[in-house]
Amino acid sequence: MRIFDPHIHMTSRTTDDYEAMYAAGVRAVVEPAFWLGQPRTSPASFFDYFDALLGWEPFRAAQYGIAHHCTLALNPKEANDPRCTPVLDELPRYLVKDSVVAVGEIGYDAMTPAEDTALAAQLQLAADHGLPALVHTPHRDKLAGLHRTLDVVRESALPVERTLLDHLNETTVAAAADSGCWLGFSVYPDTKMDTDRMVTVLRTFGTERILVNSAADWGRSDPLKTREVADAMLAAGFTDDDVDRVLWRNPVAFYGLSGRLRLDVPAPDALHEGNSVLRGGE
Ligand SMILES: [Zn+2]
Repeated sequence: MRIFDPHIHMTSRTTDDYEAMYAAGVRAVVEPAFWLGQPRTSPASFFDYFDALLGWEPFRAAQYGIAHHCTLALNPKEANDPRCTPVLDELPRYLVKDSVVAVGEIGYDAMTPAEDTALAAQLQLAADHGLPALVHTPHRDKLAGLHRTLDVVRESALPVERTLLDHLNETTVAAAADSGCWLGFSVYPDTKMDTDRMVTVLRTFGTERILVNSAADWGRSDPLKTREVADAMLAAGFTDDDVDRVLWRNPVAFYGLSGRLRLDVPAPDALHEGNSVLRGGE
């Protein structure tokens, strides 16, 4: 079984996670830029983070046989912080990098005017750079948030077929499916979708344009949730081909819209800018 986790924050995870993910069948990941759990205080903090997603993290992933790409953006939460918004002016020089396969994650957190501005500006950046967009839908007030998101997407220059709506659930999936956008589901241990609910959504809405991710980060989350969904699909009577479509071909098709997806993992370099993942005299 081959698995592509289309949304996971590996910078917050350990090398043990990489090892376990490889053993579970994960061969490719996309890491969206997001917030740190605490506020950044300047654009420079974003630049160091973006550089890590473009350099150190793909290097780490390659040590474990996993292809790593990223999506870059000003995240919804920090779109409200005037110390952070100047990062929008610098994004274009990052969006041209080879391993950037979308603009994201963008979207709404608290649905403020500042978030409106950042979302519209970044959908335009995606259109300008020939990239698709990963759009996070809000965790509170989900259906209102989805409708407002769709209004902004439809007014933008980015076609719905190049837009992935993430963190969907039973409340939002029908409206999201009608929109023509790609549909993303984050499966967490406690909140959002769980494995059984995910299988029910797949039974109801089919396997086309649907992506499943672990969204694992520094919070309570599980980088093996993608494999758990694959196993639950098989147990529920889905075929190997259905599983391959949802857990591999759909993410490949969506991020492939960037024209930049490289799924062959090159033999890993021992060092990245002089540093390795090993410690001491190993
Ligand atoms: Zn995320």
